[in-house]
Amino acid sequence: LAYYFKQIEEHQHLNAFNEVFFYSAEVQAKAVQEKINAGTAGKLAGMVIGIKDNICYKDHVVTASSKMLEGFVSPYSATVVQRLLEEDAVIIGRLNCDEFAMGGSNETSYFGAVKNAVDHALVPGGSSGGSAVAVQADMCLSALGTDTGGSVRQPAAFCGQIGLKPTYGRISRYGVIAYASSFDQVGPITSSVDDAALLLQVLAGADDNDSTVSPIEVPEYSALLQQDGKKKIAVLKETIENDALDPEIKAAILTAIDDLKADGHTVDYVSFDLLDYLVPAYYILTAAEASSNLSRYDGVHYGHRNMEAKSLNELYKKSRAEGFGEEVKRRILLGTFVLSAGYYDAYYQKAQKVRRLIREKLDELFAQYDLILSPVAPTTPFKIGDNMQDPLVMYMADIFTVLPSLSGNPAIALPLGNNTDGLPLSMQFIAKHFEEDKLLAFSQAFL
Ligand code: GLN
Repeated sequence: LAYYFKQIEEHQHLNAFNEVFFYSAEVQAKAVQEKINAGTAGKLAGMVIGIKDNICYKDHVVTASSKMLEGFVSPYSATVVQRLLEEDAVIIGRLNCDEFAMGGSNETSYFGAVKNAVDHALVPGGSSGGSAVAVQADMCLSALGTDTGGSVRQPAAFCGQIGLKPTYGRISRYGVIAYASSFDQVGPITSSVDDAALLLQVLAGADDNDSTVSPIEVPEYSALLQQDGKKKIAVLKETIENDALDPEIKAAILTAIDDLKADGHTVDYVSFDLLDYLVPAYYILTAAEASSNLSRYDGVHYGHRNMEAKSLNELYKKSRAEGFGEEVKRRILLGTFVLSAGYYDAYYQKAQKVRRLIREKLDELFAQYDLILSPVAPTTPFKIGDNMQDPLVMYMADIFTVLPSLSGNPAIALPLGNNTDGLPLSMQFIAKHFEEDKLLAFSQAFL
């Protein structure tokens, strides 16, 4: 633990942590040490882990990197936190992220941008940027992020780490600050597949506090990492031949495809004609859900309150105007618009139909293939400030990650080495619902 505290101090300029839990981490580490001595320690004994600052930990501040929740102390722990502690992990702190997890560069945080450890002028990706950088710069062994449309996978890719978004319904969302509830999933960012498997093992499975968690049994992911087998892999042609795709990422993926073929896997190029609909459908649906989820921040129950307001209406308006940042407001406005009478059918309902089509198309592909391959992000990490001028430019960067988010499939971002400038490259594999065991075993063999 002392080692990680030192690492954190030496990397303060990266702005990855919103808070280091010096005291509670020490207490937990001591208790775990005693259990280790007594031979009664849990599966994660001593694993030092950071959590994204939108995951509740009893008696600790949780802010979602928003002024709205500045100083808010959580009265209870998320199920994922509970399970980490029960298995004797040590939670070292809460990690910076985009405000309410809305963003793809960690630049919308009220507490400032996080810097990529490879080059401080570059973004770490987002929204779980702090989580990715904390692992990248060895400030903790692994970290939890949340992935609504790529927020675990894309920052992992930008920081050369492994990012897993489990199947929707695999891990409890209880105690995770909601952004878009039919998309949100907690996922680990790690430097090894072993750690990802171990964490999923501990975090997954039914929870009385979240009825959307599947009762499907949790396999022994760690024990199943050795399972072998040649895979049938579909490469989505429109992604790999996309004009927006960085040529070095493309070249690295093509090399990886050759390696996969040489290893005896079958790789086919298949057409996916719905690619252009992914980002619009995703942003309509997630904005709609966000506008509803974030209506709870009214300045009355909890969160930021304006003290000068003279009427209830004014209190709502001023508290929300002051508490939320620009990107969050943009999404609330967009979401309220697409849900409003007269526009509901044209936007929200239409997007839901598109989501259904996407899901059906993927199910069709998965009837023939074990895995789907695509890039994670179209580019390597970009400069801080570069994409902030135009929200649409930022949204389009999610083009490859939102597919499994819309369909609920599990997906993993895997590192592919560095480009000529030393920037991390990566690729994404998507698997059938609840086949994380096969996805992880394949990833282990691939790396
Ligand atoms: N960049 C995407 C968005 O802004 C994804 C965010 C996420 O997965 N939390 O919605």
